[in-house]
Amino acid sequence: MNRKRIALIAHDYKKEELITWALEHRDILAKHHLCGTGTTSGLVSERTGLTVKGFLSGPHGGDQQIGAAIAQDEVDMLIFFWDPLTSQPHDPDVKALLRMAVLKNIPTASNVASANLIIKEC
Ligand code: PGA
Repeated sequence: MNRKRIALIAHDYKKEELITWALEHRDILAKHHLCGTGTTSGLVSERTGLTVKGFLSGPHGGDQQIGAAIAQDEVDMLIFFWDPLTSQPHDPDVKALLRMAVLKNIPTASNVASANLIIKEC
């Protein structure tokens, strides 16, 4: 079986949505390698029991680390529930990460509807 490397990130007001989504798709996610920004990975791991490799917290360099992992072909899929209603102090990092995901042609989901679609590929 082809285990994919899936990165999970959610901004603060989107974390509950991502955890709920991860619980709904727990069995599929458990078959893959998961990673995420610091707080997101910790919460997903705690609430779902899934193993999620944690990078630094997003505003402290975690988005940049995941962007670098994508640049080095170490991520196959990005689930990033970013918050369209709150400005982020690390917005340049968010933009750089999303840019890298597009550049490297990584399937990317930014909300539940798109995450539901791309998880079907797993
Ligand atoms: P966090 O980072 O999971 O550490 O909260 C998410 C982000 O803001 O990019």
